[in-house]
Amino acid sequence: MDNMKVLIADQINEKGIDELKDVAEVVNNTSITKEELVTVIKDFDAIIVRSRTKVTREVIEAAEKLKIIARAGVGVDNVDVEAATEHGIMVVNAPESTSITVAEHTMGIILSLARKISIADKSVKESKWEKKKFMGLELNGKTLGVIGMGRIGSQVVTRSKAFGMDALVYDPYITEEAAAELGVTVVDLETLLKNSDVMTVHVPLTPETKHLIAKPQFDIMKENAFIVNCARGGIIKEEDLYEALSTGKIGGAGLDVYEEEPPKNNPLFGLDNVVLTPHIAASTAEAQRDAAIIVANEIKKVFKGESPKNVLNMPVLDPETFQLIKPYFKLTEKLGKFLMQTAKGNIKEINITYCGELSEFKKQDILTRMVLQEILNPILTEPVNLVNANSVAKIRGIVVTEGKRCDAKGYKSLIKVEMKSESKDISLEGIAAKEPEIIMIDGYKVDVETEGTMLIVRYKDIPGIIGAIGTRLGEQGINIAKMQVGRKELGGEAVMVLKVDQKVKGTEIEKLLKLEDVYDAVAVNL
Ligand code: NAD
Repeated sequence: MDNMKVLIADQINEKGIDELKDVAEVVNNTSITKEELVTVIKDFDAIIVRSRTKVTREVIEAAEKLKIIARAGVGVDNVDVEAATEHGIMVVNAPESTSITVAEHTMGIILSLARKISIADKSVKESKWEKKKFMGLELNGKTLGVIGMGRIGSQVVTRSKAFGMDALVYDPYITEEAAAELGVTVVDLETLLKNSDVMTVHVPLTPETKHLIAKPQFDIMKENAFIVNCARGGIIKEEDLYEALSTGKIGGAGLDVYEEEPPKNNPLFGLDNVVLTPHIAASTAEAQRDAAIIVANEIKKVFKGESPKNVLNMPVLDPETFQLIKPYFKLTEKLGKFLMQTAKGNIKEINITYCGELSEFKKQDILTRMVLQEILNPILTEPVNLVNANSVAKIRGIVVTEGKRCDAKGYKSLIKVEMKSESKDISLEGIAAKEPEIIMIDGYKVDVETEGTMLIVRYKDIPGIIGAIGTRLGEQGINIAKMQVGRKELGGEAVMVLKVDQKVKGTEIEKLLKLEDVYDAVAVNL
């Protein structure tokens, strides 16, 4: 962690800066200009921004040792994530920093609707005393419908329980365990809409969630129901919301986000039964403090070579999956190294198949990236890492496919990698025993330890050839430590895997290739 430098380009909470002081040199320049940033970025290993500083492609291309771009907050519109990915730079944010803050704001809006707080406040300030007009609704015993039970939705559920509410949840992507842990009932959207007294949306805005709540949904809601949107504008169709509110179809609505921000001449402004806030659900000092602390810790992890939690441009493993998948890291590294050394000409295709137990894991993607990293790193000037492995392969026109197969040939798990290059195809199968082992080369059964130097020789299966190869190697002072041969049919092509005691030079391979009936020979150092 020596000599790491972090640039704080936008104002963040001091607590975040304190976290970093022990591990890095921290430069606080929160008024840095675009031009200055392009000039100085080459000296930094990490940069923290909020929304002021734009981390553009130009900035990223000028960076020489930048490892991580951290957004102390959620949205990363000001970061060119694609350019960062291409350059192997991680982009992290702190999505959980605002969850409690947004959940509290949601509860605030719900209370304001139920007890008419904002209009009552306005009325008192106008010197009125309209007690009868502001008859409220008790939340206790009412049903809260939560649409989207991620970070924020779950915090809302927890808080609603303190108010004595029952929660119905609509979220097709949550697991039964997550729902059971929170003690909520998962239902379909229609059931939620028909049975909830208060509804709140906490889903991302996607093509699927755009106008998720529109006229057909308002039509089946309970009369007097409330709906709240502290997620993203456009999830509720505002035109239809206005109609539902102005015709008394539903009781009220609370919005922090709008289809157009800031909203202009919005007809909702004229209604008494809406509570509107200017996209401030995430704005608290605590959320900003937490965001700064979270990203500072992510940077520390990256400096220590550990995996950060909220990486936007790389798959992140939960600790459980990490433990399950970890034994395969070394195997994928060795398979990649092996293939890289046998490649001849342009690589066209890399197909990776995961078999056995490994095929059931959700995130083999990380293993695919490891294979690609090992294959591509030695041939490219720009470093290839787990962040940019896929995008570098794509830019170079390499087709990468991932497959799953269940037959692991009696092993717990097996990884098969096939690489097709201009003049040669090669396939390897490996297992993660105590040490990684290669068990098949091009369909020939072998048993190769993945250490030291190996020679892979293809030849015609005729009497005397094995001796000739051994003699030719001996003449060149190459000592054979171990030898295995495999063939598919008598007299056909055969393969020999030799473990040798020293590195083998190109000229020595050439001499081997001069032998009649030797088709091919490659040396691999693992
Ligand atoms: P999250 O990713 O943790 O949770 C989103 C949940 O929505 C997930 O559980 C997912 O399964 C679910 N989901 C996705 N598509 C769905 C669909 N079609 N139907 C039902 N459920 C679906 O996100 P989060 O951090 O809880 O944020 C929720 C929302 O809040 C996002 O839109 C986010 O942008 C917004 N947000 C707003 C503010 C603000 O200032 N108002 C601040 C932070 C976050």
